[in-house]
Amino acid sequence: MRHVAAYATPDRHAPFHKTTIQRRDLGPGDVLIKIAYVGICHSDIHAARGEWGEAIFPLVPGHEIAGTVEEIGTGVTKHAVGDRVGVGCLVDSCRECENCLAGEEQYCLNGATATYNSIGKDGRPTEGGYSTYIVVDQDFVLAIPEGIDLDVAAPLLCAGITLFSPLRHWGAGPGVSVAIVGLGGLGHMGVKIAHAMGAEVSVLSQSLSKQEDGRRMGADHYYATADDATFTKLRKHFDLIVSTVSATLPIDSYLSMLGLNGTLANVGAPPAPLTMRAFTLMDNRRSFAGSSIGGIRETQEMLNFCAEHGLGAEIEVISGDQIDHAYDRVVGSDVRYRFVIDTATF
Ligand code: NAP
Ligand code: ZN
Ligand code: ZN
Repeated sequence: MRHVAAYATPDRHAPFHKTTIQRRDLGPGDVLIKIAYVGICHSDIHAARGEWGEAIFPLVPGHEIAGTVEEIGTGVTKHAVGDRVGVGCLVDSCRECENCLAGEEQYCLNGATATYNSIGKDGRPTEGGYSTYIVVDQDFVLAIPEGIDLDVAAPLLCAGITLFSPLRHWGAGPGVSVAIVGLGGLGHMGVKIAHAMGAEVSVLSQSLSKQEDGRRMGADHYYATADDATFTKLRKHFDLIVSTVSATLPIDSYLSMLGLNGTLANVGAPPAPLTMRAFTLMDNRRSFAGSSIGGIRETQEMLNFCAEHGLGAEIEVISGDQIDHAYDRVVGSDVRYRFVIDTATF
């Protein structure tokens, strides 16, 4: 066991504090990663504040991890000491079921192991990237291509893949009209990626306050959802809407903006149920769908795509003692556009 510095929260009401956690000794297939940066995903906040049900406390969140390989196990062939690497939301899966074999480990039929708040195959709770080192099986470690700095690469490991996967699945590209709901951590990557895929991109944000940023990221159009006229103007307009909103939305209003055979893909994970009327779905043969992160192969594809198109996250780098403050700002939609923790401050 190796003792490493981390930031943890002891329960859902308490602030984060600096602590020490243990990482396992390297098995033959393991990689020891020195974490440089870790993004703050809104999922970290839902989990740490018990909004999805009780988490495993003490909790060390963090699944947007970027760093360098410090040491490798005797059987490791995919990564070498010194490589720039990333870890996302998954650290293990059964690798045998139909979904794992299809490269969709996030939908492992036997349950994938999440990077934190999960029980690993060794029976111990997994602990995430708000720490200085992590040990991960080589198959769940991604290569960060040259040309993307580690700080702006970290958020790609969750925010990037969570948008890339549905955009690819539902065919974002030239001639396809895509709307991204919410210009936060996920949303801003959605705008950049959909634009790079060649789609016509609209942002549906609560207000117009971030319009200039959205357009710089690649949005062709920008609308305020606080203005009811937006929904009337855009009735039956989009082919694909991806909602990244962390709160419960009036789904019917968003479905109404879909044209024939359009899809509303929801990736936001509010704790309360989402509801809709059957008639809104029936009209225009609309679909309401969901999507969860992406598999390992697709995550690597996304990283390569981002490198090719010069895409990274827009970030605000913070120190470990600023996590609670950053959480409050994310909850208040005051994030531009991802907080990334510099683990050198631990
Ligand atoms: P975030 O940075 O807080 O972004 C969410 C954005 O939604 C906000 O910036 C805001 O954008 C908008 N929003 C917030 N509250 C709203 C409200 N009441 N009504 C309308 N819009 C609102 O969060 P994130 O890290 O991008 O994560 C977003 C959600 O996705 C979270 O629930 C998270 O758990 C989930 N998630 C899911 C997956 C997956 O695999 N499906 C992966 C990662 C995260 P504007 O200011 O532009 O309106
Ligand atoms: Zn996440
Ligand atoms: Zn599986």
